[in-house]
Amino acid sequence: MTSGATPMMAQYLALREEAGDCLLFYRMGDFFELFFEDARTASTILDIALTTRGEHLGQPIPMCGVPVHAAESYLARLIKAGCRVAIAEQVETPAEAKKRGGSKALVARDIVRFVTAGTLTEEALLEPRRANVLAAACELRGSVGIAACDISTGRMALEECAPERLAAALARLGASELVVPEGWEAGPEGAIRRGAHEFSADGGEARLKGIHGVATLDGFGAFTRSMLAAAGGLIAYLDHVGRGALPLLLPPEARAGDAVLAMDEATRASLEILEAAQGGRRGSLIDAIDRCVTGAGARQLAEDLSAPLMSRAAIAERLELVEWLHRHALLREDLRAALRALPDVGRALGRVVAGRGSPRDLGQLRDGLAGARRVGDRLADLEGVPVLLERLLPDLAGHGALVDHFERALVPAPPTERGQGGYIASGYDAALDELRVMSGNARRAIAALEAKYRDETGVAALKIKHNNVLGYFIEVPQRHADRLLEAESGFSHRQTMAGAMRFNALALHEEAARITEAGAHALAAEESHFEALVAEAVASRQAIALTAAALARIDVAAGQAERAAEGNWTRPQVVDGLSLEIEGGRHPVVEAALKAQGERFVANDCRLASHDRLWLIGGPNMGGKSTFLRQNALIVLLAQAGGFVPARSARIGLVDRLFSRVGASDNLARGRSTFMVEMVETAAILAQATERSFVILDEVGRGTSTYDGLALAWAVAEAVHETNRCRCLFATHYHELARLAETCEALSLHHVRAREWKGDLVLLHELADGPADRSYGLAVARLAGVPPKVISRAKSVLDKLEKGRAETGGLAAGLGDLPLFVAAQEAREEACDTLRDTLRALDVDALSPRDALEILYDLKREAGA
Ligand code: ADP
Repeated sequence: MTSGATPMMAQYLALREEAGDCLLFYRMGDFFELFFEDARTASTILDIALTTRGEHLGQPIPMCGVPVHAAESYLARLIKAGCRVAIAEQVETPAEAKKRGGSKALVARDIVRFVTAGTLTEEALLEPRRANVLAAACELRGSVGIAACDISTGRMALEECAPERLAAALARLGASELVVPEGWEAGPEGAIRRGAHEFSADGGEARLKGIHGVATLDGFGAFTRSMLAAAGGLIAYLDHVGRGALPLLLPPEARAGDAVLAMDEATRASLEILEAAQGGRRGSLIDAIDRCVTGAGARQLAEDLSAPLMSRAAIAERLELVEWLHRHALLREDLRAALRALPDVGRALGRVVAGRGSPRDLGQLRDGLAGARRVGDRLADLEGVPVLLERLLPDLAGHGALVDHFERALVPAPPTERGQGGYIASGYDAALDELRVMSGNARRAIAALEAKYRDETGVAALKIKHNNVLGYFIEVPQRHADRLLEAESGFSHRQTMAGAMRFNALALHEEAARITEAGAHALAAEESHFEALVAEAVASRQAIALTAAALARIDVAAGQAERAAEGNWTRPQVVDGLSLEIEGGRHPVVEAALKAQGERFVANDCRLASHDRLWLIGGPNMGGKSTFLRQNALIVLLAQAGGFVPARSARIGLVDRLFSRVGASDNLARGRSTFMVEMVETAAILAQATERSFVILDEVGRGTSTYDGLALAWAVAEAVHETNRCRCLFATHYHELARLAETCEALSLHHVRAREWKGDLVLLHELADGPADRSYGLAVARLAGVPPKVISRAKSVLDKLEKGRAETGGLAAGLGDLPLFVAAQEAREEACDTLRDTLRALDVDALSPRDALEILYDLKREAGA
């Protein structure tokens, strides 16, 4: 590029404009080049050299580039870093350009695709065990519609929720990209904003009907206008990034917001369901329980854990299948071995439908679908097959014709590239076979020519070689070149290299032309077979997707059964009441960590019921309080996701919402004032928890001063007990809270046990009834290696403090006669209202100064000040 608007610069700038806020990959020969700001951004992220090329407006143009053959890995890193990329390809060959516009014509380029985090299909860019969700959301007359799809497998779901539940719904979906209309103020930060007109209910409905070729969507489910509007926005975005080529989209599912156990973002994060607190899968719940042998199974499991069910019947169906596979260990082993060998059918289909499929993907469909049929046949003969499996069995079969066809058409292990051909099996197409024989013959003829030329020239080092520039040529070392340079030798000179010379010969030229011609015809023939096979797969896409889903569901159940067998887990009972009875419960992640160190996990019971629904749990730090709280929440989650649980027995009254909150000091990594965060999250529980909810509160109030903290913890516990009336485990180190037991009839006191033995603290990690006797803070400090001198000083301070407490009644002195939460609030509100009434009745202009003063005194008296 040079200064001013050279044609290339003009072309670049136009494409740059079109790329919007995406980086522009501009194809130049074997490279994708980036210029200007794009080059700076990409070179930093990719850690590649930033150079310059030409000038623009008198300034050198920053540039960096990546080779086309390695572009995928660079793309992966850019996407991971949060970038989006527009790919501008050459859409004609240099020869075509010349033909079109003369020797100086610029090759036409166009953006052929946008690569964004939510619209990937490439195997190399996707994590096999994780769904990749693209979501769109918008608000229509007070309700929010959400459309979500995973285009790598085509699954799509539409749902609707109240605006305040949007954050929780998005947290559940875990989308890697979210699209919202421009100008929507409630739209989450970081979302991609698109024209509001794209989010139209009528438009969305029309697009869905068109894509699925139906006159009405009723057959798929009941969709509201806001759901359809979100679908419209989603499809418009897919259109945009695919430049009109739509990816695989299966018929949408209507998902009712209350069909799943609700958990907000803070709860998901604190329970470390799919990701551990320090990031990554290690140490998360899914890491501890995932025994799936396929990527699709692992993706389904993640979805199950993100959206546990609210229907007891559906939970029971899943559990029945897990139990059946748990009981039949040999069958389970067989099944898992068979599944392990299968390719990822869903994702192969996604690539094929998106027009980015390779011969290898077709081979994967063939092998996956054939494998599915074998799995189905094996299961169909068995007695007492659970209902869920019976329903899945038909989905495993039904691809006989396609599999047979693909088996005949494709070689056993087709390549990922189709440029070289060679993927259509011999015997499938007689004409293709003939072309291959011809080019094979010509190749043999060339080999024969090499021998003949050696003989004729007497140059033993003579070789026939091939490259992309010259095609076939004869090469001899420089010192033997004379013989071939002689006139009448039959060889014509083509190129002189360092130490070697290259020649052509008529016979070689003819054979080479034969190879090229036969090769080109063969390639074209293979290409047209490829297209026909792709079309056949695309036509069966819905049935293939069902097969993939059925395989994933079976893998999840078999994996759950395997995990249960491994850890001696049990089938939970999910019942209608409001109890939570877990005997011998364990925390799967902590237990696994302890096991790795050769230590044993101490199982604990939890027995919540309407008349004893709030457990206050005290005891020393490190005593196991948090672990106990979380293990019970996780057991509920696992049970409603339809899996076995780490406990001796579990009877769980269906939970509608699950909340988990951890006191601020555990959450230092966050940006906002941590105490503020803690309170915002606590407020959400008080506003949302119902009688059916289950709440765990871990040291709430810890993030502020002792008095504030105790006061807040006290008030929150009271409110949960009196107003929300949900099941709740509340861990606290404030002894003073124990006094709540005197006034709250459904609250009981528990503690994790510890013992001092020969001056050392022994943490038993065992839950017992009754209040904690003391805090063991100094003993924990000693355990942690605080120097004896400091400990002994702390001990004398403590003695003084405790003496003071004995004299004054302690921190909570005077709380004994504090009216109950509700009563106190009502009293205040009432007083407030008489004040307000008096004020409202006043005619200020008509008052004398003296009257005004008197009334002020009265008001103050009434307000108790
Ligand atoms: P707290 O919340 O009381 O400070 P934690 O629940 O964080 O205590 O537990 C501290 C450590 O104690 C855990 O990391 C774990 O190693 C161990 N622990 C907790 N519960 C148990 C248990 N039930 N059995 C064995 N070890 C446990």
